Formats: sequence, structure tokens, C-alpha cells
Amino acid sequence: METPGSQSSLHRANLERVVRAVRLAGSLTQAEIARTTGLSAATVSNIVRELKDGGTVQVTPTSAGGRRARSVSLSGDAGIVIGVDFGHTHLRVAIGNLAHQVLAEEAEPLDVDASSTQGFDRAEELVKRLISATGIDASKIAGVGLGVPGPIDVESGTLGSTAILPGWTGIKPAEELQRRLGVPVHVDNDANLGALGEMVWGSGRGVKDLAYIKIASGVGAGLVINGKIYRGPGGTAGEIGHITLDESGPVCRCGNRGCLETFASARYVLPLLQPGHGPDLTMEDVVRLAREGDPGCRRVIADVGRHIGSGVANLCNLLNPSRVVLGGDLAEAGELVLGPIRESVSRYAIPSAARQLSVLPGALGGRAEVLGALALALSEMGDSTLLDGTLPTAAPAFT
Ligand SMILES: [Zn+2]
Repeated sequence: METPGSQSSLHRANLERVVRAVRLAGSLTQAEIARTTGLSAATVSNIVRELKDGGTVQVTPTSAGGRRARSVSLSGDAGIVIGVDFGHTHLRVAIGNLAHQVLAEEAEPLDVDASSTQGFDRAEELVKRLISATGIDASKIAGVGLGVPGPIDVESGTLGSTAILPGWTGIKPAEELQRRLGVPVHVDNDANLGALGEMVWGSGRGVKDLAYIKIASGVGAGLVINGKIYRGPGGTAGEIGHITLDESGPVCRCGNRGCLETFASARYVLPLLQPGHGPDLTMEDVVRLAREGDPGCRRVIADVGRHIGSGVANLCNLLNPSRVVLGGDLAEAGELVLGPIRESVSRYAIPSAARQLSVLPGALGGRAEVLGALALALSEMGDSTLLDGTLPTAAPAFT
């Protein structure tokens, strides 16, 4: 046992700080580690040498701002993380290592709402197939991040709103997948994982205060405050789709009227265009047609942008994020949607909140959530796992 405050426990705490900074960021120069951890350059240099000698980190030459630097990342072979993302219509799995390299990734269509058992069967199958295809040692699996398309009640671990996924009533998704795979599983909703994915791999890199807005069949936001996902006690933080825009507007699935979602989500927007474009029109089609110059589709996308912009303006006034990243199919419309969003933000947000805000399309497209699931597994794995070599060895499901 180490005494708190003793020389050796301080040293241990410093080791953990450095490992944690590198684990979350993927790779950092020694100067960046010093900035992130608040440790002196000399301490960082000593700790990095010790971690490198122990095989925990790898150091590669790089350049930072034109100067030679050393890039530090966790050793690729130190452990494996898995990301599993359930969308409403797909299942996607990615396998990554602790150096933030994606080793394998695959998606397949799946009607997730239909049956949770079928969903978990398919996820278990796909994870095991990718593990065996890549020849990875299953005893190196440090954890799994799992994404579900609905709010997770933080305390009970069940899906908060059964109206969103009726086939999943009473299911605890993380427990269920953990039982099947025999390794620790951490769960979050798709918007939060999209935010994490873009923050670690995409348009939110280096930003500590960020909102990721996903426009699909609904409208949701993942909020990152001071580098951490903010969930709220019930897991419902970020339900930006249910901001009231018009008290006498259309009735929303939440029971209120005129929510942002009733002006911006696919289920309300597509019917506006279907009379002219046929009943099979999808959001993807609308974006493609708008880019080709279809005036109706352009008008609808601009209107959606303006409405999303009023929601973003509210968000700016409340939380003052420095970046908003737009995900989902609509992000592919580029300036056709981003321009009207920015216009609304500058019209409705307090100028000092709007001034520092940049609104960008997501860089990861449909992969944002599964990469966010990898990031979740990385952020939850804990540093003693790495420093003491206590990975959950020989997962029963794989032996
Ligand atoms: Zn609503």
C-alpha cells in the first residue's frame, strides 16, 4: 500500500495523468502533454522515458509548427477496444487499438427497432467474426463502447424512452452485451457518441466545448462541456429537437406542439417534398437533388437550416460552445444548410456568444457514432489497467 502524498504515490499519479492524456487524445507531443497535464517539461520527459521502457507508450519523431518534436501514443499492441453502434436501420462494428488505429470496421443493414434479441445476436456475431478475421488476441480486449439510438437512463442503465425503441423495453443494453462478450461494456446514446467521435477523430479535434447536432428521423445533440460529455441525471441532456419554436405548430411525438423536430427532422420534412418527388424520397435524395440545383429541395434544406440555427442560437446563449458540428445525412448538403444555420445564429444569439462559434460539417459521416464508441471504450478503461497489466484476460466468450 502506498501512503497518499508520499513520493511514490505522487509519481504514480503523474504516470496516470500522462497515460490518461495520451489515451484520450490518441497522440500528443511532449509539449502538449505538459500543457494538458500541467506537469513540467522535465517531469513529462522522465515519465515518457519510463513508460516507453516499460512498453506502455511508443514515441515517434514528428514535426509541430515546423519544429522537430516527439509524438507519444499508447503502444498499439497494449490492448484492443471495440465499438458497436446500433442505428435505427444499421449495425456497425469497429475494432481499434490503444494507439487510436482502426484495425477493422464493418456495417450491415438491421431493423434495430424490431427485436433487441436479434440485434444483440447480430452484434455478437459480427464482433466475433471481425476479431477472428483480424487475428487479434482476444485476451487483449480492454473494453467495448456501445451506442444505441435513444437516451440511456444513467442510473438504471435502461433506455430512458421506450417510445423511441419499443422493441427494447426493459433491456439493459450494456449488461446484455457484456454477458454475451465477457468483457466490460459501456453504453451511451448515438448523439453523445457522435460528439465523442468528432472530438477525438473529426471536426471537433482540440475543442473542449462542443455541440454535435444530428439530424435524422429526429433531432438530437451531444454536448461536450470542458472536454466531457454532459448527460444530465436522466441521460436526456441535449434533446435540442424539443425546443419549442411555434406553440401552435404541428404536434410532436413528445406530445408538445411546434418542437424544432417538427420543422427539421426527416419525418416532417420529407412529406413536404413527396408530392412532387414520389413517396420513396429519402433525406439522402433531398440532399443530392439540392446539390444538383432542385429549387424545392434547396428551399426545404435552407428552411431546415434556419430552424436548426434558432435551436443552435438558444444553445449558444445557454452554453457558449466554441464549435457546433453538424452530423447526419443533412451535413452532406454543406453550405446549403450551414449558411442558413450561421445566419440564424447571428440573428438570434447574443453577439458575444455567436462571435466565437464556428459551425462545421462532421468529418466522419456515418462513422461518427462507431468511432465515438471506440472513444468511449478508451475513456472508460482506466489507467491501472495499462500500468499494472490487468486487462480482463481470456474473455470467456472468446475462449
Ligand atoms: Zn417534441
